[in-house]
Amino acid sequence: MSAPLRIQVFVSREQEGQYLTVPFVMPPKVESLSLTCQYERRAGTGSGGFTPRQEINIIDLGLIAPDGTQVGASGSDKDSFQVSETEATPGYRTCRLVPGEWRILLGAYKIAPEGVAVAYELTFTHKRLRLLKGDLHTHTLASDGVLTLDELGRHALRHGLDFLAVTDHNQMVPTDALPRLPGLTMIPGIEWTHYKGHANFTGVDAPYDGSFMANTFEEVQARFASARQRGALITLNHPFDEGCPFTFDMESLPFDCLEIWNGPMRMSNMQAIALWHSFLAAGKKIPVCGGSDYHRSQLFLFPGGPTTCVYAMSAGVSDILAALRQGHAYVVYAPGGPTLELTAGESLMGDSVPFSTVKELEITVNGLRAGDVVQVVTAQGGTPLLKAENDGNFRGHYRMDSPGFARIEVLREFIPGIPMLPALVSNPVYFDTQNRASRLI
Ligand SMILES: [Zn+2]
Ligand SMILES: [Zn+2]
Repeated sequence: MSAPLRIQVFVSREQEGQYLTVPFVMPPKVESLSLTCQYERRAGTGSGGFTPRQEINIIDLGLIAPDGTQVGASGSDKDSFQVSETEATPGYRTCRLVPGEWRILLGAYKIAPEGVAVAYELTFTHKRLRLLKGDLHTHTLASDGVLTLDELGRHALRHGLDFLAVTDHNQMVPTDALPRLPGLTMIPGIEWTHYKGHANFTGVDAPYDGSFMANTFEEVQARFASARQRGALITLNHPFDEGCPFTFDMESLPFDCLEIWNGPMRMSNMQAIALWHSFLAAGKKIPVCGGSDYHRSQLFLFPGGPTTCVYAMSAGVSDILAALRQGHAYVVYAPGGPTLELTAGESLMGDSVPFSTVKELEITVNGLRAGDVVQVVTAQGGTPLLKAENDGNFRGHYRMDSPGFARIEVLREFIPGIPMLPALVSNPVYFDTQNRASRLI
């Protein structure tokens, strides 16, 4: 939080009956704005006796965004409000606090003959990196799930999730239809579902015009191009699913993320991880995510199974999606599973660093169980860093001996006698040689 910004304006009697605006500059990276407004509303100092104190000034309050849209208008009833991308005082809407010139609405409803001084105090709370847990792939009654949006959201909160994308088959759930549940960021989305593959378009209300239907590859490309152009996060889903694998040519469609972990860990997810690993080994940079594909609660099927954990600058949809695009994320089998910090210099997982100056990974894993293996995985394969003897935490380093990528896996023996399975899979840090900044997407 920075020092408050104070703005004082004088309103004269001649301006009574006018709607005025007071400009101010929104600094970059603001998460929430609190504003208070003070002026002499009633005459005298308060000993009103038997006569009520008279209102000599009445000022209306509101907020206008840089693009001219009305964020809120609360008349003279409120003398303060708060706005962020996730919460807002009633009468105001949640919105991104984009940098630029915003305006306070000042309605000069009633002004004393001598005029009035109006003092605003604006407090900006800045964004900061935080770890958020969520599920990017869920279904409701609107397609083949069994819960309403509200029930699904509450279920996600009970499982300890901070965000939840709703991705019904070929049914868009727009932002305004999403319930507002404190502590849970709900992300609008759709699972674009085709006989040849599924993809999630999340974060926008209308990724394309018209219907989902596409009978030619050109029509498929048009849906993806529209979703990309409108700012949706595009995820290619469950590429090796037993029932509906992704069979389109990935190289000819734009996407932001590959869903390498869909529902319980099993062969199809291992194949997806192997495919992704082969892309990485070929020098491509592809962020990954996971999703439960939750339809109804069954053994091993629950919201957050798996959980995608993101390092985001706020709990707003735009910052969560930005973190996913940047690969500032890892996937873990459940919300209560181990947590990971993976950095190289000042950079996080998903980032690229120059190998000439940064060679060292720093790894912290909390919440390990006895028997867990922490391994770093590069193009050359996996290198175990720890086999945990007890429940606990791990802190260690890994030094790269050549450029490439390095990612972390935690392996666990979930059922005695069954081979170890991934309990956590992270995005890599990319150690680039000079001039190497290729991206597939
Ligand atoms: Zn699907
Ligand atoms: Zn699905």
